[in-house]
Amino acid sequence: MTLAERTADLLREFGLEPDFLGGAGEPMPGRSPIDGSELPTVGSHTEAEVAETLAAASAAFEEWRLTPAPVRGRLVKRLGELIGEHKQALADLVTIEVGKIGSEALGEVQEMIDICDLAVGLSRQLFGRTMPSERSGHRLQEVWHPLGVVGVISAFNFPVAVWSWNAAVALVCGDTVVWKPSELAPLTALATSSLLARAVADVGAPPAVGGLLLGGRDVGEVMVDSPQVALISATGSTRMGREVGPRVASRFGRVLLELGGNNAVVLTPSADLDLAVNSMVFAAAGTAGQRCTSLRRLIVHRSVADAAVDRLARAYASLPIGDPLDPATLVGPLITDRAFEAMAAALDEARSDGGEVVAGGERVDVGAGGCYVRPALVRMASQTAVVLRETFAPILYVVAYDDFDEALALHNAASQGLSAGIFTRDQAEAELFLATADTGITNVNVATSGAEIGGAFGGEKETGGGRESGSDAWRAYMRRSTNTINYSGGVQLAQGVSFGS
Ligand code: NAD
Repeated sequence: MTLAERTADLLREFGLEPDFLGGAGEPMPGRSPIDGSELPTVGSHTEAEVAETLAAASAAFEEWRLTPAPVRGRLVKRLGELIGEHKQALADLVTIEVGKIGSEALGEVQEMIDICDLAVGLSRQLFGRTMPSERSGHRLQEVWHPLGVVGVISAFNFPVAVWSWNAAVALVCGDTVVWKPSELAPLTALATSSLLARAVADVGAPPAVGGLLLGGRDVGEVMVDSPQVALISATGSTRMGREVGPRVASRFGRVLLELGGNNAVVLTPSADLDLAVNSMVFAAAGTAGQRCTSLRRLIVHRSVADAAVDRLARAYASLPIGDPLDPATLVGPLITDRAFEAMAAALDEARSDGGEVVAGGERVDVGAGGCYVRPALVRMASQTAVVLRETFAPILYVVAYDDFDEALALHNAASQGLSAGIFTRDQAEAELFLATADTGITNVNVATSGAEIGGAFGGEKETGGGRESGSDAWRAYMRRSTNTINYSGGVQLAQGVSFGS
């Protein structure tokens, strides 16, 4: 069976007919990064279709906002069940469309199920507070209300999980959700949206609580500029965030940005080297270095630098690279040839800065089309510009430090602030790192990638400051109203102000 035939079968499992997908606009021909073979062409949405979807989501909000939150939770519960029933098929589509290895694709779909579970629980826990009023016979409370239409813009590398982090939580919060997925991953978006449509029908929710807009950045821009969209939650490059942030701010919309990372591990002399190396290989080479949380910088104490580099280089040499549908593969393809060009240019720049490529960096011929590379390990004397830039490919730069303060300064020198890890058995070092690393996710004896949905996910500085998924990230999808209730029977002004009688 060819990849195209397998894809067509998978799409049919979601009730999708491969010859007629998407909107009536420009066709978006797709290719699988696995072997470059053609995928079913998807039509982008026209201006009129975009306007219609946004209007329908706005109208549906009026009904959905007044549906009790625990009842809204039933929709997300059903969605989670359906995702569970089609877990393997959705994971296979993720692999075919973006090249993620089977285990990681299944992990991505599991994350969707997990966030649905979390959101269902949340649907009975959208707590407000009460505060003591300074006036007698008065009560002061804050209540959280639905926000409106949430526009989700997502990146290619987590083609379905990012939508679910937003959608599951936004839907229980009473918002409606319109999704503009990556132009590189429309098939997984269509499959996911068909599951949401089934869940909507099964529980009798308004059909337009979930909308899908397919197309390039121009389609995203319409949503960004639309006053009908209360919150834009955008995941992608810092370049994209720089464009989207000010545009949404100029119309006083809300924005939640999840942008690029340049994540580092600090490896100290007391660290358990086996544990550190195993954890770092997954973080640096997993997903072929195409995670926002991928490990890109290793800041290692000079006394253990040679040993760490040696072990990493040996691990890199034995990484099985190839077809991500083969269960033995650990490193699948890069998303496009352009990604390899960016990787090669970064390695050239590192060499011209005096860096030494200790392992990898070359293209690997796996006997199919597609762009496969051996993850690269590069020793640098210092953190030059290329080290401080996010190259979305598997390159791990190694820089040595002499004292711990220097390690902290090297760590925080990046302009992004997503994820960080320290490997140490020294509690004081661990605590100092947790207190000073300027990242949204900071780990001890765990490398930078593979976060759980229970915590708030996101990062600081050029990563955009947004938080999604667990903890109290739900508040981004709601508006807060402070209420004063007067049951005293008289007028009392705050701060003791008197105004006439
Ligand atoms: P990208 O920025 O090229 O595209 C992301 C999405 O934004 C796409 O849907 C694209 O169509 C849309 N877009 C681009 N410009 C736009 C504009 N001006 N207005 C509206 N929409 C626009 O990113 P990518 O190559 O798909 O993904 C890789 C990047 O995403 C990396 O930088 C990675 O670190 C980042 N990322 C971050 C997170 C996170 O949670 N922080 C998660 C995944 C990926």
